[in-house]
Amino acid sequence: MDVILSVDVETYDGDYERDVYACGHGLPFILDTCGADAPATHYVEALGATRWGGEWLRRICADIQSVGHEVQLHVHPVVAKIEGFEDHEDVLHHRDQETQRMLLAEGIVQLNKAGVENVTSFRAGDLAASEETLAAMKDVGLSVSSNRDLDQKSSIRSQLNDFFPIRNDVSERDGTIDVPVHACKSPYPFLDREYRHLEISAMGLSEMCDALVKMEQAGYACACILTHPGEFFRKRAERIQPIRKNQRRLKGLVNFVQRHDRLEWATMTTFIEEDRGDHAQPAPVHLNPVYSAMRVGEQIFDRVLARL
Ligand SMILES: [Zn+2]
Repeated sequence: MDVILSVDVETYDGDYERDVYACGHGLPFILDTCGADAPATHYVEALGATRWGGEWLRRICADIQSVGHEVQLHVHPVVAKIEGFEDHEDVLHHRDQETQRMLLAEGIVQLNKAGVENVTSFRAGDLAASEETLAAMKDVGLSVSSNRDLDQKSSIRSQLNDFFPIRNDVSERDGTIDVPVHACKSPYPFLDREYRHLEISAMGLSEMCDALVKMEQAGYACACILTHPGEFFRKRAERIQPIRKNQRRLKGLVNFVQRHDRLEWATMTTFIEEDRGDHAQPAPVHLNPVYSAMRVGEQIFDRVLARL
């Protein structure tokens, strides 16, 4: 089974140095840890370039592509500075289809200017995508969506969770494929709600690895994991502190997938190229209650440690 690490790269106030690079603890940590052996798909927020200029976007895209990872389009309307357009909500699907089309087209232009040639996939900020978003994507030639997530604790904006014929796995409708951020059933719904998604900061290492093995056995088309540069550091006044817990998780995950015979790192592009499209609805995967309890303990310990 292909495992796709998807990284949302963004800033809300133009401080790319702090929010993305973070003294080497953000994006550089991800690129170093994954290297060329575990190529990730980076959904890079592109509209920030309309407000803060394209220099940082160029540097980010160059750094990502120089280690063999790929860049795809991520858009937060609130950071855009475009004549005749203003946004304070940052919910893409609140905008009409024509406005969404304009924002996506502008995002592609900015990525092209930053040296990214083949933009084929799109993830909305906070996964705030609807059917109009899929239509806007089609208009500008984006064929691969990644805008579903059943985790209702972390991700409540997607309007597409029940739109595609297959839930919580790769699915196609009207010529658009969607690769969701995958989610598994939590043993502790009173803490997590029904589903917990595959995100580095949201799952323990044992919990995540166990889930990947079970997903492979259950016949999932792939496993798409979410992360952000900001999951690997904390901003403390003027200081940047690494979050060792999440750094260990990513390192452990990269090693686990590389060692496992039936798991393989893929990007959105390499996965879609090899995908035969003959998918069936897989059964939900249940997280291991012991591993999930270990994660809860680890989170509490980490929070206490962060206060010291
Ligand atoms: Zn985002």
